[in-house]
Amino acid sequence: MAHPIDHAQSSASRFGGVAEDYLAIHQFFDESKRLVADFRHCALRHHTEGIFMAERLFGVTITNIDGRSIPVRYIGEQHVREDLGRIPSFQDWIQEMPVKSWMYGQRLTVRKEL
Ligand SMILES: [Zn+2]
Repeated sequence: MAHPIDHAQSSASRFGGVAEDYLAIHQFFDESKRLVADFRHCALRHHTEGIFMAERLFGVTITNIDGRSIPVRYIGEQHVREDLGRIPSFQDWIQEMPVKSWMYGQRLTVRKEL
């Protein structure tokens, strides 16, 4: 797992421009570290839906300092591949998650002693 600035420097090497052109997008992917400090934070945005979410937030393309339009999806795909080695779907993440009764609305009840 790389720091967002490392991903941004990698983007600049790959797509041109400077790291600052890409930093906000890479920070978006890793903001979930505020919720969980270990690798499980990736379940929130490091997947196909997270990449499309970035596209909705940042637009279809960004223009780097060289004046080149770079698809945000390519930047998101680069981030996820650098962290995980592949681009999983959200389904890939949740199928590894154990199902608990509260997740499907089972209410806790207080048993009355008779
Ligand atoms: Zn990441």
